[in-house]
Amino acid sequence: MVLPLVCRALLAGRRWLPGAAAAPHGDRRLSPALPTAPAAAARLCSGAGGAAEAAGGDGALLRHLARKLRASGPVTVAEYMREALTNPGQGYYTRRGGVGESGDFITSPEISQVFGELIGIWYISEWMAMGKPSTFQLVELGPGRGTLTEDILRVFKQLASVLSKCDVSVHLVEVSPKLSEIQAVMLTGGTVQPNPEDESAYMKGISKTGIPIFWYRDIQDVPPGYSFYLAHEFFDALPIHKFQRTEKGWREVLVDIDPEVPDQLRFVLSPSRTPATQNFIQPEETRDHVEVCPEAGAIVQRLACRIEKDGGAALVADYGHDGTKTDTFRGFRNHKLHDVLSAPGTADLTADVDFSYLRKMAQGKTATLGPIKQREFLKNMGIDLRLQVLLQNSGDTATREQLLHSYDMLMNPEKMGDCFNFFALLPHHRLVHPDKKDKPESKSPLPPVAGFNELLLK
Ligand code: SAH
Repeated sequence: MVLPLVCRALLAGRRWLPGAAAAPHGDRRLSPALPTAPAAAARLCSGAGGAAEAAGGDGALLRHLARKLRASGPVTVAEYMREALTNPGQGYYTRRGGVGESGDFITSPEISQVFGELIGIWYISEWMAMGKPSTFQLVELGPGRGTLTEDILRVFKQLASVLSKCDVSVHLVEVSPKLSEIQAVMLTGGTVQPNPEDESAYMKGISKTGIPIFWYRDIQDVPPGYSFYLAHEFFDALPIHKFQRTEKGWREVLVDIDPEVPDQLRFVLSPSRTPATQNFIQPEETRDHVEVCPEAGAIVQRLACRIEKDGGAALVADYGHDGTKTDTFRGFRNHKLHDVLSAPGTADLTADVDFSYLRKMAQGKTATLGPIKQREFLKNMGIDLRLQVLLQNSGDTATREQLLHSYDMLMNPEKMGDCFNFFALLPHHRLVHPDKKDKPESKSPLPPVAGFNELLLK
């Protein structure tokens, strides 16, 4: 695979990344003391942090859930997870959403700005391969602190001459009022207009680089149009249903109040089949325990329909598997594993993404690529060349050590390199000429999709 010339120039350039070259700690977001996470835990754990402490954990959500469970019986894990993460008053993401070093978990864009810059190059490369449409929307689902979009917008700014005739806008899908505030400060400097008239957005502003930015609670509210979608560590935060094979057939795992201990939650099995067991378990399923995330399925279906109709592409990056894993539901608080049923609302709850399910839910409306491992994707995007250039241009030992350390975090198979994956939705015509079957010799070959093919730097 050969990256477009303009993208290769960016990789080799020393001036387009002033942050990385000049920041006092080299790769600016990296804590020198981040230890390795167990690969199975997937979210990256480090030393002390404090979102959960800051959030208080006063037990209000637990009391609310306990009342509900006593009144109307056990709830599905999906319903529990939804309450714990996005309850309007007490949910984990609603109140705080502790992404970053001082929070409960750390993500790739928070570790190194090179990560976001390579993703920015991916979008430019696809935009060029698709014939440089005159307008596109960058739509990020679950933008966290806004760091990834910030890094991508810096790439767009560096390529202003290439994008000069293209009308670019940014659309962020975020349920957390707290995180949308943080994103607004990060991306616009804090000058935003809440509830703009005549818009489906709940907030709008202008990026520091002059690009309009809109915020929505739901992907359905984002206006139609040619769009590049991005979901980094988003699908793992959506509610899952859990199922257990028993001698009597499939049963759904539910959350109930423990009758022996006041205000303590426990897992129980549904006494009979539930609507979800009927709808979500495939007859050919061989595993004994299965997790399904219908909300992720519905969102992928929507993205595939939008890409088929209006054009664009979607890049999904997350930890996950291809329909093979069983029990992956976990909690994280203060960068440590946390009992998922303890103190709901004070910890991040997450489950591995089932990419085979996402592929199925695209329903053939788009082509899919991946999942491929993060270390392969980033290697194909030119991270090694980028590292070399940054190392050559960094004057002091501390900066060089930080750059090497952040590279290791992203790429080491024991850290984030193997458990995180990249997956893409693309229009069929991006991979195969529509009339190729009829006249195979008449068309020039389509450029390969960056990141999913080996990089040849000529
Ligand atoms: N992409 C970021 C943050 C990941 S954390 C990063 O990689 O650093 C998950 C993000 O998804 C948070 O911004 C959270 O508030 C948001 N989120 C969680 N559930 C959501 C939902 N149902 N709809 C929209 N956003 C959601």
